[in-house]
Amino acid sequence: MTGMSAQSTAPAPFTADDYQGRMARAASAAAAAGLAGLLVAPGPDLVWLTGYRPTADTERLTLLVIVPDQDPVLVVPTLEAGDAAHAPGAPALTLRDWRDGQDPYAAVPLTGTDGRYGISDNAWAMHLLGLQRRAPATSYAALSEALPMLRAVKDDAELGRLTAAGAAADAAYQEIKQVAFEGRRETDIAGDLARLLRRFGHAQVDFTVVGSGPNGADPHHEAGERIVQQGDMVVLDFGGLMHGYGSDTTRTVHVGEPSDEERRVHEVVREAQQRAVEAVRPGAACQDIDRAAREVITQAGYGDRFIHRTGHGIGVTTHEPPYMIEGERQPLVPGMCFSVEPGIYLPGRFGVRIEDIVTVTEDGARRLNNTPRELAVVH
Ligand code: ZN
Ligand code: ZN
Ligand code: ZN
Repeated sequence: MTGMSAQSTAPAPFTADDYQGRMARAASAAAAAGLAGLLVAPGPDLVWLTGYRPTADTERLTLLVIVPDQDPVLVVPTLEAGDAAHAPGAPALTLRDWRDGQDPYAAVPLTGTDGRYGISDNAWAMHLLGLQRRAPATSYAALSEALPMLRAVKDDAELGRLTAAGAAADAAYQEIKQVAFEGRRETDIAGDLARLLRRFGHAQVDFTVVGSGPNGADPHHEAGERIVQQGDMVVLDFGGLMHGYGSDTTRTVHVGEPSDEERRVHEVVREAQQRAVEAVRPGAACQDIDRAAREVITQAGYGDRFIHRTGHGIGVTTHEPPYMIEGERQPLVPGMCFSVEPGIYLPGRFGVRIEDIVTVTEDGARRLNNTPRELAVVH
């Protein structure tokens, strides 16, 4: 079901207990990985662990410190401490504030001097350098490398949000097929897509790729001034956040009747996507999903025109581990959610991509996007 069901009532908010559970799991994972602790900067890690989103990403240090067997500490600038105290996860935290003029790094409770800490990928370099100055023997690892699967397995409440976001994106796709394509700019259609995503419940629209004709051969082409023409293939890749979780789906449509070659290329991508989704099962390696898609495209003679990985995890961000890419041996686990999005890109001519978000179940993949994958004709 799509359409109005996507607008159903908002899910119950995550509670302090939910965040406490996540922080406890993060602490256990850190200990198991031999880390002294985790240093979490504002951004997706902090949102996921505490529900706290500082109003602005300022140069003042805000840092969540998670050390196994200790209460988590949120270091915040004094002028933002009041705000932080109202974060959903705040009851499970100790707040430690620092004032302008004080050394913020002195407020960070690093244990000992020679531990290794996982630190958020997006932490400011300035802050990492400040911590290094303060504790020169301490070492650091990017959190996505130290604990890549920390946010990868979604619980039922997260899955419910991702499912709703997917249904809303599907509803937007069903509507966009009805608008006029021929004679309008890509940016006009992108605007329609953004409005539809919001109408079906998205609080935030992150991307609306409209790649018409030769522009479709650039996988992440931003919608531009090009006027869509009769005979164009058009790649539509769009998504955003709904109830804090992401959507990301791609369909390729054709303006008027497609040529035999366009149908053939689209069918190769559809088959590749189908095979990759069928390869999803607990215990399969991430690279197996990539291989399943790539094999179909390579055998059809377009191997060198499939120029990106097959998929990426999705949650509170659009791109996160696990990645479906050659060399990634991470086994799939029920509850993981990621995209399956093979494509073929013919420079100067057109591109085709088909993308669904799937979740791993005991029985294989369940798709969170369910609109038809056949080549749709638009006008
Ligand atoms: Zn055409
Ligand atoms: Zn996408
Ligand atoms: Zn994607």
